[in-house]
Amino acid sequence: MITLRTDEEIEILRENALLVSKTLAEVGKRIQPGVSTLELDKLAETFIRDHGAAPGFLGYNGFPNTLCLSVNDVVVHGIPSAYRLKEGDVISVDCGTRYKGYYGDSAYTFAVGEINEDAKHLLKATKESLFKGIAQAIDGNRVGDISFAIQNHVEPFGYSVVREMVGHGLGSRMHEKPDVPNFGHRGHGKRLQNGMVICIEPMINAGTKDVFMDEDGWTLHTRDGKKSAHYELTVCVRKGHPDVLSTFEFIEKVIK
Ligand code: MG
Ligand code: MG
Repeated sequence: MITLRTDEEIEILRENALLVSKTLAEVGKRIQPGVSTLELDKLAETFIRDHGAAPGFLGYNGFPNTLCLSVNDVVVHGIPSAYRLKEGDVISVDCGTRYKGYYGDSAYTFAVGEINEDAKHLLKATKESLFKGIAQAIDGNRVGDISFAIQNHVEPFGYSVVREMVGHGLGSRMHEKPDVPNFGHRGHGKRLQNGMVICIEPMINAGTKDVFMDEDGWTLHTRDGKKSAHYELTVCVRKGHPDVLSTFEFIEKVIK
């Protein structure tokens, strides 16, 4: 079942979305060669708790940490560790919050120091595809309009769309209906309606779309070892225009 949110619920979801956005910016300030992914995780947990909220991922299906930190060939769901970031790495930081009974969920892929031109382009194209998808989040469109817009933007570059993981509805649970795939056909799928809140989150690989699961049961790697990028924002479907609840504005101020 797809829930349409009341204006009051949407404002609580917006509070969550803004806290996640600010947490990602705090993490972004610290991303540099030498920092361990566990240090980034602790910083995010403290920041979220200092704002009266709880980490949304911690304990979710048994996930052990606040952030999913996915470096280079890791697509999503990397577990924070003693690994220290190196110049040239890319790291997807995916963060969730729980506040007033609702969730926030957003992700951004950061460059560690200077990255090569190929990696820069992968990040740029993936982020662009997210905004192409968001532009379709309008009452009366279908989920497939979002999916198609994302896929159609990245595949001409030779990139591929991960099939195993998809975007989702968001509300009083982290993952709700509908699924929002990053591949598909225009005019297909569930109809988007005013008041639906969804997370759009392209996961785009530089090479093959194929992935495999690490033995830890969480970490998803690209099959060919090439890099992957991931960006996620929360959007409320409205008539005529999408209402984007989360933002990259705080992040992009600190990484400039
Ligand atoms: Mg996420
Ligand atoms: Mg999500």
